[in-house]
Amino acid sequence: MAAKFARHPKQALKDYEEKVPKGIFRYCQKCGAKFYFARAGKYHVCPNCGYGFRVTARQRLKMLTKQFTEWDTDLTTTDPLKFPGYQEKLTKAREQTKLQDAVLTGQAEIRGQQAALGIMDPAFIMGSLGTANGERITRLFEKATELSLPVIMFTASGGARMQEGIQSLMQMAKISQAVNDHRAAGLPYIVVIMDPTTGGVTASFASQADIILAEPKAMVAFAGRRVIEQTIHKKLPQGFQSAENAYQNGFVDAIVPRSQQVDKLGQLLTIFAGQKWRGANGE
Ligand SMILES: [Zn+2]
Repeated sequence: MAAKFARHPKQALKDYEEKVPKGIFRYCQKCGAKFYFARAGKYHVCPNCGYGFRVTARQRLKMLTKQFTEWDTDLTTTDPLKFPGYQEKLTKAREQTKLQDAVLTGQAEIRGQQAALGIMDPAFIMGSLGTANGERITRLFEKATELSLPVIMFTASGGARMQEGIQSLMQMAKISQAVNDHRAAGLPYIVVIMDPTTGGVTASFASQADIILAEPKAMVAFAGRRVIEQTIHKKLPQGFQSAENAYQNGFVDAIVPRSQQVDKLGQLLTIFAGQKWRGANGE
């Protein structure tokens, strides 16, 4: 007769984990792997499936370059609706991310090439798009146009910021116009989709780039899965709204792991350098 376990293996693991200090083990929400935290390495990536964990914009910047001049650091929201509890949320997010709102922008050098760089911060109220970060992204494109620089934008967003109502929705049109002016000046625009890129950001500037790259296993979506299923009365296939699915359907040009992004971006910037880029539709 087979020996009986004193405890179920899962329970044994759980008991063991309870004795281990917090933060020693990491859990991947994409593949379910549990691993010693240091194995995620300097790029904060799941060693099992390659998913890039959500990190703040400043942590993300460290993975890309040391040569960076920050722009428009002091732009803050006016809280147009005086939304209850919003100020407390902002204070907490500012402490956590060391940013005034959910994006970091400036001029960066990547592999010897100059570019205007924007990195959205999923830790700042889900990277939601409001008036302050909307304005900061708009100015990123305007300044890049003025200085004849390409734009690289790392996107991560839960969509429009509900605490700012319709004014947050207007940012989509405002940014899109600045993207358009940048394109009309013959300058290239590259997007790197991080997890999660959803809502108004997907519907506007995340989809308007000349080249769209994505991180492995990143969620890229417009509306949430449940909302779509309830609207069309159909079950959506597995893997729907993943970067891999978007790649297979031609929405994403390449999936690039974090460890290869600097090389890839450097390569693209070098190709574009010194020439007027005409855009995908040859305008
Ligand atoms: Zn994983």
